[in-house]
Amino acid sequence: MSGAAGRVGLVLVSHSRVLAEATEALARQMTGEAVAIACAAGAGDGGAELGTDATAIAAAIERVCGPAGAVVLMDIGGAILSAEMALELIDPAIAARTRLTGGPIVEGAVAAAVRAAAGGTLDQVTAEARQALGPKAEQLGEAERPASAAVAATDAAAAAVAATDAGALAATVELAIADPGGLHARPAARLITRAVAFDAALTLENVTAARGPVPASSLIALASLGARRGDVLRLRGTGRQAVEAVEALAALLQRDAPPAAPTAPPASCHAIPVAPGVALGPMVRLVRSIPEVPETTVDDPAAEAERLRRALDLAAQDLGSALRGTDILDAHQALLCDPALVDEAISRIERERCNAAWAFRQAIDAAAAIYRQLDDPYLRAREADVHDVGDAVVRALLGGAAAVLPDGPPAVVVAEDLTPSEAARLEPGRVLGVIDRRGGPTSHAAILLRSAGIPAVAGAAALVPDAGGARAGLDGATGEVWLDPDPETTIELQRRQAALRASRRPPGARDGRLRLACGREVELWANVAGPSDARVAREAGAVGIGLLRTEMLFLDRVDEPGEDEQAELLAEIFAAFAGAPIVVRTLDAGGDKALPYLDLDAEANPSLGVRGVRLSLARPALLEAQLRAILVAGRGHDIRVLIPMVSTAAEVSAVRAALERAHEALAATGAAHRWPVATGIMVEVPSAALMAERLARQADFFSIGTNDLTQHTLAAERGHPRLHALADPAHPAVLRLVRTVVEAGHAAKRPVSVCGEAAGDPGVAPLLVGLGITRLSMCASAFDAVEDALAGASFADLATIAEEALAVDDAAAARATHAAARRPG
Ligand code: PEP
Ligand code: MG
Repeated sequence: MSGAAGRVGLVLVSHSRVLAEATEALARQMTGEAVAIACAAGAGDGGAELGTDATAIAAAIERVCGPAGAVVLMDIGGAILSAEMALELIDPAIAARTRLTGGPIVEGAVAAAVRAAAGGTLDQVTAEARQALGPKAEQLGEAERPASAAVAATDAAAAAVAATDAGALAATVELAIADPGGLHARPAARLITRAVAFDAALTLENVTAARGPVPASSLIALASLGARRGDVLRLRGTGRQAVEAVEALAALLQRDAPPAAPTAPPASCHAIPVAPGVALGPMVRLVRSIPEVPETTVDDPAAEAERLRRALDLAAQDLGSALRGTDILDAHQALLCDPALVDEAISRIERERCNAAWAFRQAIDAAAAIYRQLDDPYLRAREADVHDVGDAVVRALLGGAAAVLPDGPPAVVVAEDLTPSEAARLEPGRVLGVIDRRGGPTSHAAILLRSAGIPAVAGAAALVPDAGGARAGLDGATGEVWLDPDPETTIELQRRQAALRASRRPPGARDGRLRLACGREVELWANVAGPSDARVAREAGAVGIGLLRTEMLFLDRVDEPGEDEQAELLAEIFAAFAGAPIVVRTLDAGGDKALPYLDLDAEANPSLGVRGVRLSLARPALLEAQLRAILVAGRGHDIRVLIPMVSTAAEVSAVRAALERAHEALAATGAAHRWPVATGIMVEVPSAALMAERLARQADFFSIGTNDLTQHTLAAERGHPRLHALADPAHPAVLRLVRTVVEAGHAAKRPVSVCGEAAGDPGVAPLLVGLGITRLSMCASAFDAVEDALAGASFADLATIAEEALAVDDAAAARATHAAARRPG
């Protein structure tokens, strides 16, 4: 007890003697005998029963409470009451120096003991105990903001450093943590106890994770640094003994570290990076389910049979893309035209006047029953294929590839060619990350995952088997995937998660306008697919909405949304960007965005088919209803209309005429609406890029869609898992088209922006800015990375690398021009 004299003492009040003693032992691991700790725990003989006793607590307080005072930590319920009663039993002078704290008993005792051992005052030790859960909550992502203790401590540290900088001695050292456990409790406690011996204000900062500085006197503050092995810590001292203190603590940190064993990076496999972020957790499969099939009759059997034929075509397409490259595709396709299924279903429709889904389901069930009775086990197993085909047809008839996740905790989801409607249904709260066994980075499913901030990789079929594996980890920025990661990998992934959290700009920290080193302004606008990402984008500081993908609002609708309903939903999105510019794109359906209610014809090459503006012009009623909804919702807002997939000037004039008609119809009924509106075009077909100079006569602005522009320029399907490297927007051919559009836009004084995924790709955005783009529209989650990629560059630097990128052979070489420019030296 002698070493404890003059320090704050601790009392541990618990219903369980064993718990209190174990907690004391844990705290003493950090402080030895430097602090007086007394347990008042258990009831009955020798405290063997569960309970608390006010008299025993009073005696414990009197034992440890010296002039510096005592802090009492309690476990649950009655312990608090007993401790309060104990204060009434003791000498009022001692009671006045005793603090009861609501801090957690285990973490609080350890943190408070270390602070007390370092000479902390009664208030400091109490605060340390109270805030002891902060770092844990922050590490687990439960804290809304960095642990309050750490924040307070950081402020105090910054103030201390600032106050002593003038004239005082200062010393700084940086060192990497080599201890596999990082700066965990024991070395941190030793550091704190050593630090108090010096006349110096000492702070530590985790340079790698951008956390701190925090004072080297608080275990909680040090824990809030989240310092893991390999992180670089900056140790700084100011004051009379700054130099000696920094040397001593650096030596202590290095001595604590076991000799560095050569470590291989954790083994991972590479898939296609799709959406940045790191995920780690249990792995679940996305199970596709199908809607309930109603047993209704129809008035027109011939039309119903025709509907079934169209559904068979759609199902063939659907299965064709989902099973591409697998040996079961042929069998599925054969089933889709098997007369035993198709003729049987059609004759049922004719005979019983039942609906197509019901008829096909009956035919499927009959066929499945035949397979089920076969002797050969291989053939018997084909029953599953029959059901698979049946489900695809029913989905094509009734809409919505509804996929379900099994109940359970948040998980990493493994999907088989995730569709946009499935991606749209994934809730970020339940989905830690996505591993798509197929797919690619610019598929619409990928875009939706990025908007939702869900880390994802694609094209992982070879890495993730059909079954097996309980846990998975992934890094969506690098494409790495781990199945059942080992503890070492788990720690590495947690470190990456913490570093990402620490580097994220808080909401409100940005106004969406970046200044290059030369003063040129680059604007960050947002791509939005619904009201919730509009709100997130506004919070993140987007200047405006650069692309509102209206087709995403109705992905799983089987009936056409009415005009009022459309206007209502649009108004909700516009409200999130009140006062800011909003670019609304007319329906861009078709391609990989099949809207069930449109009942589109099957096409051999859907991305080259009747999609985007072609589809809108083929269905004028649909287009004009949408334009009226946009104008009505746009009243009082700065909206602009954007036309997708333009390939000829005639398409632009046709949409302009439709817009005039929509305005006249609204004016005729006296409906309030926005008018006039600027009308721009997406440049995403090479013909539009090459003809930009002519199109500028009809378009008020250009927005370059690099996703489609890349697909069409390189003839490489955007969602194709094996063409990912080819379909790269950094390819000089795409960059040359961007330059053509920029030049045409500037000559005609038409603003030019980029709204394809390239705008949010830190390896391409600097090249786009170098080509003269000053407006980048992307998913808001990409803002940080783009801001970092442009930081410190001037337009002249970027123009130079863009010029080089135009002159190389391929995308990899173009990306390398930027990467090389960023390397120091
Ligand atoms: C594009 O093609 O780049 C684009 C922004 O449009 P979408 O991705 O919706 O086809
Ligand atoms: Mg497009």
